[in-house]
Amino acid sequence: MTDNFTALFNTYSWEETRQSIYDKTALDVEHALGNNRRTLEDFKALISPAAAPYLEQMAQLSRQITLRRFGKVMQLYVPLYLSNECNNICTYCGFSLDNKVRRKTLSPMEIMQEVAVLKEMGYDHVLLVTGEANQTVHTEYFKKVLELLRPHFALISMEVQPLNKEDYEELIPLGLNTVLVYQETYHREDYKKHHPKGKKSNFEYRLETPDRLGKAEVHKMGLGVLIGLEDWRTDSFFTALHLSYLEKKYWKTRYSLSFPRLRPFSGGLEPKVEMSDRELVQLICAYRLFNEEVELSISTRESIVFRDHIIGLGITSMSAGSKTNPGGYAVEPESLEQFEISDERTPGEIETMLKEKGYEAVWKDWDQGLVCK
Ligand code: SF4
Repeated sequence: MTDNFTALFNTYSWEETRQSIYDKTALDVEHALGNNRRTLEDFKALISPAAAPYLEQMAQLSRQITLRRFGKVMQLYVPLYLSNECNNICTYCGFSLDNKVRRKTLSPMEIMQEVAVLKEMGYDHVLLVTGEANQTVHTEYFKKVLELLRPHFALISMEVQPLNKEDYEELIPLGLNTVLVYQETYHREDYKKHHPKGKKSNFEYRLETPDRLGKAEVHKMGLGVLIGLEDWRTDSFFTALHLSYLEKKYWKTRYSLSFPRLRPFSGGLEPKVEMSDRELVQLICAYRLFNEEVELSISTRESIVFRDHIIGLGITSMSAGSKTNPGGYAVEPESLEQFEISDERTPGEIETMLKEKGYEAVWKDWDQGLVCK
């Protein structure tokens, strides 16, 4: 096995991969549905246009597998935006360097004000989010934040700039449990167009972040692409390829996937590719049929109707009551948000909705005791 994913990735052509997905037939889909263990070729069939008429069958199978493996529980998490400072230009993000807005990084006292609100909501799992501003929000800042938060949360996840293996090795003993790093798109040329300036424009450095995390032995990592930047089927295939590679190589680590669809933000980028709700359901079911272990997560980007309907089909974790701006819960509710959210219900309302569907809300991670509120 190669030392990092880039070597494997470079053996694939985007265009040939895309074509092979669109060439899949009804027979390929039926074959994939009939298999017990599904290959990457089966996954291609399940995300192909040819699978659209099989959505009901895919949804039923996905539901059975998810219930068998995860039961009727839903993990709830909440993002805590620490900073909207960012040195990168990303064409789709409100925090982009060229977006002329007031910047803010929370001080320790402000962080604790936000924490008080999150604890009041019942949370035991927090996802720390920042832009990529290496002079302000760096490993030393993260160390201080982890020290502050550790006594208050059973589970701390992070979605910040990609770091070096040594940085992760410093943060993990301080309580960092999960790191999310989305490739945004696996289309190398389009990646460059959407990330013209800053450290993030280095495609390979980002692509190899999961390898650095695996080598640092992080407990869990989250992968995904930003749906709307490029052909979602091809991007999802590469995500599945990446996941398979990582699972084999870093088998002690657990994995999760997210499906963020491009949302409006101040400055706005129109999606190049629209993905319908039906297609998102198809994708979620396809991932579940392909991989029975992976955790599948849905954020408040999606609408209330969609989120309520997707429960029971494959999703195992969701955010609730989210604010996407630093200080959004207590300190500075009007600061710049990264993107608009769609589902504005409180965590209590989400918990009630889950109960009505026969599900139990879990406010912390599975393996640390499955303690419910
Ligand atoms: S996506 Fe991340 S790196 Fe890009 S502008 Fe937004 S916060 Fe910065």
